[in-house]
Amino acid sequence: MTLKPYQKKRKFQKTPEPAGEPKIKGKNRFVVQKHSASHLHYDFRLELPEKINQGQVVLKSWAVPKGVPLTAGIKHLAVAVEDHPVDYLNFQGIIPRGNYGAGQVEIWDKGKFKLLDFSPKSLKFLLTGKKLKGIYVLFRLQKNNWVIFKTKTQK
Ligand code: MN
Repeated sequence: MTLKPYQKKRKFQKTPEPAGEPKIKGKNRFVVQKHSASHLHYDFRLELPEKINQGQVVLKSWAVPKGVPLTAGIKHLAVAVEDHPVDYLNFQGIIPRGNYGAGQVEIWDKGKFKLLDFSPKSLKFLLTGKKLKGIYVLFRLQKNNWVIFKTKTQK
């Protein structure tokens, strides 16, 4: 159900992106994809159930115009976007012109996360990536607008 908005926006015979399906179980992976679309941004995705605590596993996704901060004390806007299929974790390539999100997608970082706390308006998790390491918070401001920041505590 939840992947319908994702699938509706794309024509899978014209884009190399995976159509994908929700999964029953997740492996606590995350990815940050650098997306050189009409506006450069970074897509941050966490392998989580549709509703965080229930449902099939998808990639909960946020578009972060300035990227995920590497250091504590910096807050960046993160706009919630449609859930993506888990197969998108490994996607890199070029979405051809004329398609939704046209432009290059490169994996900027990936790794594992551990969910430490969640509520409808905030998520706290430990990231273990190559570039991103430490405890991060995603906090919902209003509607699809969230902020992402690294906390000062390391454990
Ligand atoms: Mn994107």
